[in-house]
Amino acid sequence: MKALKERILKDGLCLEGGILKVDNFVNHQIDGTLMMEIAKEFVRRFEGTRIDKVLTVEASGIAPAIMVANLLGVPMLFAKKKVPSTMTGILKSEVFSFTKSRSYNICISEEFLKAGEKCLFIDDFLANGNAANGMLDLAAQAGAEIVGMGFIIEKAFQKGSDMLREKGVHVESLAIIKSLDNCEIKMKE
Ligand code: 5GP
Repeated sequence: MKALKERILKDGLCLEGGILKVDNFVNHQIDGTLMMEIAKEFVRRFEGTRIDKVLTVEASGIAPAIMVANLLGVPMLFAKKKVPSTMTGILKSEVFSFTKSRSYNICISEEFLKAGEKCLFIDDFLANGNAANGMLDLAAQAGAEIVGMGFIIEKAFQKGSDMLREKGVHVESLAIIKSLDNCEIKMKE
């Protein structure tokens, strides 16, 4: 997606350890116009696939996911990273955070994810695929199906993309980073 790639090159910052900081338009301040274009592109790429629900993980996945869900006219459900005291009937899965270097549980209420539902998972980044695996696990626990996964930015030098494609998941990434070596952003054309 041309506008996204140009924005990454203009405003993206490389941090130590292969982390790309896009706080200017995705992870802190959000460019709603670009985010809507991102959502439309996801909808275009998954056209023809039945989608009953859009899934994501709080917090950064929520903005693109709600826009995609709104365009599709379906609900959006985000996994929480803390188990709320008011939540009963919880499905949870342990996820290792690449950026925080620690594990945490993601959880959803079983009330909102039902057997047979076909779901599209949307997230900001695909790195090692831990969040994506956690969501596959939650969907499996519910008997729901992940019919596709859309990422705003895929870091192809980490193992998530190969792992998901080997599992047969339909993955669509709107910008693919080949390398962040020497703090230089190298993108796939
Ligand atoms: P994974 O679970 O695929 O290993 O990592 C994906 C999650 O980690 C994303 O939801 C995102 O929050 C975070 N993440 C991974 N790599 C980066 C990165 O380079 N920059 C930012 N801002 N977040 C990242």
